[in-house]
Amino acid sequence: MRYVSTRDSSLKVRAAEAVVMGLSRDGGLYLPERIPSLTASDLQALVQMDYPHRAAWVMKQYLDEFSHAELLDYAAKAYGPAKFDTPAVAPVRSVGDVQVLELWHGPTCAFKDMALQMLPYLLTASMQKTGEDRTVCILVATSGDTGKAALEGFRDVSQSKILVFYPEKGVSDIQKLQMVTQEGENVAVCAVRGNFDDAQSGVKAIFSDENMRAKLAQRGQFLSSANSINWGRVLPQLVYYISAYCDLLSGGILKPGEPMNVCVPTGNFGNILAAYYTKCMGLPVQKLICASNANNVLTDFLRTGTYDRNRPFHTTTSPSMDILISSNLERMLYLLCGDDAQVRDYMAQLAQTGRYSVSETILHTLQEHFDCGCCDDAGTARTIEAVYDQTGYVLDPHTAVAWSVLADYRARTGDKNVTVLASTASPFKFCDSVLTALGVAQQRSGVDILDQLSEVAGLIAPMPLRSLREKAVRFTTVTAKDAMPEAVLEML
Ligand SMILES: *Cc1c(COP(=O)(O)O)cnc(C)c1O
Repeated sequence: MRYVSTRDSSLKVRAAEAVVMGLSRDGGLYLPERIPSLTASDLQALVQMDYPHRAAWVMKQYLDEFSHAELLDYAAKAYGPAKFDTPAVAPVRSVGDVQVLELWHGPTCAFKDMALQMLPYLLTASMQKTGEDRTVCILVATSGDTGKAALEGFRDVSQSKILVFYPEKGVSDIQKLQMVTQEGENVAVCAVRGNFDDAQSGVKAIFSDENMRAKLAQRGQFLSSANSINWGRVLPQLVYYISAYCDLLSGGILKPGEPMNVCVPTGNFGNILAAYYTKCMGLPVQKLICASNANNVLTDFLRTGTYDRNRPFHTTTSPSMDILISSNLERMLYLLCGDDAQVRDYMAQLAQTGRYSVSETILHTLQEHFDCGCCDDAGTARTIEAVYDQTGYVLDPHTAVAWSVLADYRARTGDKNVTVLASTASPFKFCDSVLTALGVAQQRSGVDILDQLSEVAGLIAPMPLRSLREKAVRFTTVTAKDAMPEAVLEML
């Protein structure tokens, strides 16, 4: 199977090339030329498999240059007991009348692990398949979750190095500790004096700096990115929606062929795009419910057909959804219109004016598949408290946004379909917001806040967070944002 660019469908590459390159040369995103199908009998077979086998089967449909044995080997390592604290990997829990798909049982306790545990295997194998013998250098700017998950995924992976930049004062105590104590011989972490935008624009500038590329090339290195513009990060995310359907079948909650809805707390549109792909493959998914926080650019888009990033940016209690440009929407647009010139035009308008409006036909199709809604911080806190009071289940703020949007959707439409809610982080990653929502104003600092949430909620914090207490701090470098290129040359 070939992969094409959203901005030029005559640019066709092999899967391995798409994964190594990340972004296409024309600035577009790669996607598979056609979508493989998933039949009822495939599903019956998948029901019998464990998570690594399901992952290998699904990925094989898209990666014909990889053997099933190779993919199974990666999946067994990426999702094995050394990395995930439950053999189900992505278990579905019934909480009231919601099927919560817990995507945070991996080493960093956020859903980014589902893809970032797999990506390094796909990337290094793709480098071998394309004859790339230089060392890949992964540069990441993070507001918290992605950086740690990327570090953990690439740690000690051969032929790779990773450097993560985080805003000095822009991440939580726990998130910072997670990063500065990172183990591994090929990893580095650096604080930037400034906010997330400073860190991100610094990284973007390095990517487009020919001089930097030349210097790195002399050292046998090249730059790549670990964010969800890379198909290798989207693909592993298809697996858990298919896996959830299988689990609901075997649990008797769904009958074969019965539809389910999916509700996803959304930022870059990567996670919900993966769910849409499974629908296109033939998984009986009916509505995809796109949940946003106060940064509700997607809600407005799905309602009106106009995407407009010219609006205030809100810093919220669900920071991984604080995004005004959802980059994976570009893949969605291509899937809907199948017209590279049209996508190029929308993206040019977005770059020039910060907005574009899609055609009536596209809007109509979008609304057939997607519903949407948003929830501000106050609503998020109320939801955490109410769900805890009613069910004893503790939601993290991102998942709470989705819960609230789902409740609104059900009240508005009366839709009674079984619904899978993507739970994207452990509540222990966001102890302060969760405790505040539960009415605890006096909070402990550093790692001690984990014990406090444990006591209040009667839960045990995940091991990777509890063990932070014993970890030594390895990275203390702080750089000015203008000095980020020097940091790259020194630290990589
Ligand atoms: C990254 C992230 C999201 C948003 O996912 P997208 O794929 O960017 O839409 C939601 N919740 C958490 C906890 C995340 O880390």
